[in-house]
Amino acid sequence: MPNRDDYYVLPRALVTGGAGFLGSHLCNRLIKDKNDVICLDNFFTGQKRNIAHLIDNPYFELVRHDVTFPYYIEVDKIFNLACPASPPHYQYDPVQTTKTSVHGAINMLGLAKRTRARILQASTSEVYGDPAVHPQVESYWGNVNPIGLRSCYDEGKRCAETLFFDYYRQHKVEIKVIRIFNTYGPNMHPNDGRVVSNFIMQALQNEDISIYGDGQQTRSFCYVDDLIDAMVLMMNSPTDFTGPVNIGNPGEFTMLELAEKIILLTGSSSKIIYKPLPSDDPKQRKPDITLADQKLHWKPKVSLEDGLKETIAYFKKLIG
Ligand code: NAD
Ligand code: UDP
Ligand code: UDP
Repeated sequence: MPNRDDYYVLPRALVTGGAGFLGSHLCNRLIKDKNDVICLDNFFTGQKRNIAHLIDNPYFELVRHDVTFPYYIEVDKIFNLACPASPPHYQYDPVQTTKTSVHGAINMLGLAKRTRARILQASTSEVYGDPAVHPQVESYWGNVNPIGLRSCYDEGKRCAETLFFDYYRQHKVEIKVIRIFNTYGPNMHPNDGRVVSNFIMQALQNEDISIYGDGQQTRSFCYVDDLIDAMVLMMNSPTDFTGPVNIGNPGEFTMLELAEKIILLTGSSSKIIYKPLPSDDPKQRKPDITLADQKLHWKPKVSLEDGLKETIAYFKKLIG
């Protein structure tokens, strides 16, 4: 821990969505890297238990606030993660989801502009929609339904990217945009609704494993520690590298393969059942991470099996 004299010179980092899954890991990492951390969250999907261990740390501050409203502080770097990420959560109040991405981006970019802080946007592979180019490269413009059930998230995130690049061009704000592909790990909400947490929770309780559709759709799963490494590398990268840059693990698995792996690793007696596929569910997804490798010298290190073991241990402890 830094000593008291260092306190006043530590860089101040704001993490919006800091009580969520990724945000809480990022707060841990920033504290470890000697930042003065301000965690801002409205607790829509965030959990206090994710950051409870930081509350007594003098370099950590928790603020309950909604990013759709202006927020004034003095800050050196901003990580803009606030936004529900799981389809059931972002579809629960779709208007608020779009507001969070769009008004949230405007407010955080306004804050970055006033304080001259560097700002990183947690964008998503969802900007590619149901991709016609495989694997996805950053130059692909995507295939998004603008009026579907997922569009509050997809189009909100696309508009946020637009705002980031316009503040960069128009106001010279120092921006960093990463497109995150499916990431999993400890601190995911047990009822998050995303596939990894659903399958693990079901397997640990010997309940049926719910595959949507025929289970042949693919995703690429990145372990959270790898993702956080990339996020920090991106924030510290040379000013002229704005992204967007894909961050994800290129290993590609069908949902059926994922279910079978989780059943094996948990030793569960769960059966696989099939449920209807939600509308506009992307059929395939896999990042091309050449740019991240070239510019950030980053590649994921954790295999799906090792990452799942850590995540299973977390959920096992949680349900006791
Ligand atoms: P999460 O739902 O666990 O965390 C989101 C956090 O944002 C929560 O703590 C929530 O309470 C907070 N939040 C939501 N709306 C807010 C608002 N209006 N004001 C303030 N706080 C608000 O999700 P996550 O997986 O940690 O995702 C974090 C970010 O990364 C999101 O922006 C998401 O779109 C992006 N992302 C995540 C993934 C992934 O696989 N985990 C993939 C692509 C992009
Ligand atoms: N904003 C904020 N914190 C700040 C500065 C700005 O929340 O420290 C908000 C402000 O409410 C404004 C938005 O960010 O609506 C965009 O700011 P900008 O300066 O780009 O626009 P303007 O204030 O000129 O509308
Ligand atoms: N999925 C599934 N069963 C579940 C939850 C999700 O088969 O219990 C599927 C979902 O239809 C999608 C994939 O798993 O094809 C990944 O879903 P998730 O919600 O985790 O992320 P996203 O679709 O946003 O990539």
